[in-house]
Amino acid sequence: MGLLGSRKTIRVDADILVVGGGMAGCGATYESRYWGRDLKVVCVEKANIERSGAVAQGLYAINCYMGMRWNENQPEDFVRYASNDLMGLVREDLAYDIGRHVDSTVHKFEEWGLPMMKDPETGRYQREGKWQIMIHGESYKPIVAEAARKAATEVHNRIMVTHLLMDSKNRNRAAGAVGFNVRTGDFYVFKAKAVVIAAGGASHIFKPRSVGEGMGRTWYAPWSSASAYGLPIQVGAKMTQMENRIVLTRFKDGYGPVGAYFLHLKTYTQNAYGQEYESKWYDDTKALVGDYVDRHPVPTCLRNHALLKEVANGGGPIRMVTTEAFQDPHKEQVGWENFLGMTIGQAVVWASQNIDPKHTNPELTTSEPYVMGSHATCSGAWSSGPEDYAPPEYRWGYNRMMTVEGLFAAGDASGGTPHKFSSGSFTEGRIAGKSAVNYMNDLGEMPQVDEAEIKRLEEQIYQPLENYRVGRNEIVAGTVSPSYILPIHALQRLEKLMDEYCGGITVNYMTNEPLLTRGLELMEMLKEDSVHIGAEDLHQLQRTWEFKHRLLASESVVQHTLFRKETRWPGYYYRGDHMKLDDENWHCFTLSRYDAETRKWTMEKAPVYHIVE
Ligand SMILES: Cc1cc2nc3c(=O)[nH]c(=O)nc-3n(C[C@H](O)[C@H](O)[C@H](O)COP(=O)(O)OP(=O)(O)OC[C@H]3O[C@@H](n4cnc5c(N)ncnc54)[C@H](O)[C@@H]3O)c2cc1C
Repeated sequence: MGLLGSRKTIRVDADILVVGGGMAGCGATYESRYWGRDLKVVCVEKANIERSGAVAQGLYAINCYMGMRWNENQPEDFVRYASNDLMGLVREDLAYDIGRHVDSTVHKFEEWGLPMMKDPETGRYQREGKWQIMIHGESYKPIVAEAARKAATEVHNRIMVTHLLMDSKNRNRAAGAVGFNVRTGDFYVFKAKAVVIAAGGASHIFKPRSVGEGMGRTWYAPWSSASAYGLPIQVGAKMTQMENRIVLTRFKDGYGPVGAYFLHLKTYTQNAYGQEYESKWYDDTKALVGDYVDRHPVPTCLRNHALLKEVANGGGPIRMVTTEAFQDPHKEQVGWENFLGMTIGQAVVWASQNIDPKHTNPELTTSEPYVMGSHATCSGAWSSGPEDYAPPEYRWGYNRMMTVEGLFAAGDASGGTPHKFSSGSFTEGRIAGKSAVNYMNDLGEMPQVDEAEIKRLEEQIYQPLENYRVGRNEIVAGTVSPSYILPIHALQRLEKLMDEYCGGITVNYMTNEPLLTRGLELMEMLKEDSVHIGAEDLHQLQRTWEFKHRLLASESVVQHTLFRKETRWPGYYYRGDHMKLDDENWHCFTLSRYDAETRKWTMEKAPVYHIVE
């Protein structure tokens, strides 16, 4: 096959390397150029930044906007809101930092041509809820990408980054990254003085509700493949709150969003018999989490919990009452447009199932869990806080620098800071980009990379193609081979394992210590087998490396879930052996560090400082 013989090695030296050109990556690229006019800013993306990442198909709302110029909300309000929703565990310094800068990001989006909906009476942005503003956002990503493209010295599309490079003189300093072009197979070596990781969140870690040919239909983007965690974990960066996976209540089968329906159309839910059910589970929830159930708004996980209890009690399916709101032609239009600009698949599902929400109340269900750092959840890298706001224990370097020097986190990659969404992720990218420029200006010199390490990684990256080429000769037909497994088989094994042992859909989000321990044993066997993945072509090679990042991220999720001996977020998952929230022992962050040499994990607690009253 020409692939192996004709492979070129392309070397790119950069000052700032941004891995992932989604919302945070575009923000980092844009801001690095602002503070580093003469610097070489390189953005590397496995798809094409024009339409990549979780915002690829557009959005109908920007979910994080303070509205400070109209005195609608202040950053402190945002911190209180995020902390409340995450049951008290948020890096308040990081959240405040997002809050104080996010409005300027949104104003830039408008300047760049994003059509914003305006309140005709006040002229202000049209609010969907307290934090959300409505946009005509089908082209949101191309608009944001244009700004990044103009700011970057180079954008390298279609490059799957597989590993980070480290400085040979300082093994705790990032020095760049390697990967391959998913179209040509060329090997890419990026050397850089500072690296920003903005590679998005993780779907397909847990078995999805959609199966068979529909398995690509998930709530979070199916191409969000955990590289934002896999890459830094490999080089020993500390991670935080990886147990804090998120479960979403969404329209059944299409995972269509419910925010605009609840907030703007004022729809509500009821059980199969047309009854309100949330209040029925108040005492049950209070017994698990105490006063957290009385907070306003009710934390996202607790609303899931009430739904799960009602269904387990025979009250399902849960439906959203749309038939009232949809009698208003304006609301009906908004309801449909909401999907057409963001999740067109839900409209198709309804059409295929004869559901017209004007006449039929559609079913809701809870999704499989996802790992991410920008929604109502905050898994990700443990990073240094802002100089003027972070307590000393949260500050060891430059803002958003991980525990690895020269390595920065933004968006889904950055932990402890939820509710950033698209605008907050771009904002955090800007913060990380500015810090990366400061870091490299202070340190100046290019790190050294060992050529032997590059060679070793090159062999490792392409090995799955070789496994397939050789192993394929041992079978005459079919896909089952004695000497390799295919990436899809490895992925499905991982999803099943995570689902059954770490609290996925088939076990009603329940797990415990014996299950998690057994899950880790099975994962060890999966790791052994994953060395033998065979990739038929470059597409499958990409799937292989996406799987490997998902595997490492999953191991981290299991380790964290095992470590936290309480049920902090009922509705996201349950530790059956520790069913109650335990503030006395677990009002803290969980931190992990993986040592690639010994393949051991070290776990620790870190304090939660409440900075905002
Ligand atoms: C269905 C859905 C609905 C949403 N609704 C809203 C909403 O209404 N309002 C709102 O504000 N937000 C919404 N969000 C959230 C928003 O999309 C995310 O918060 C935001 O995109 C996170 O930014 P990010 O840069 O971290 O990740 P992404 O934007 O996903 O970007 C990650 C990028 O990294 C690239 N990448 C990944 N791995 C690699 C690799 N190994 N090598 C190279 N590149 C790589 C990806 O291709 C991608 O371009 C929604 C998300 C989804 C999925």
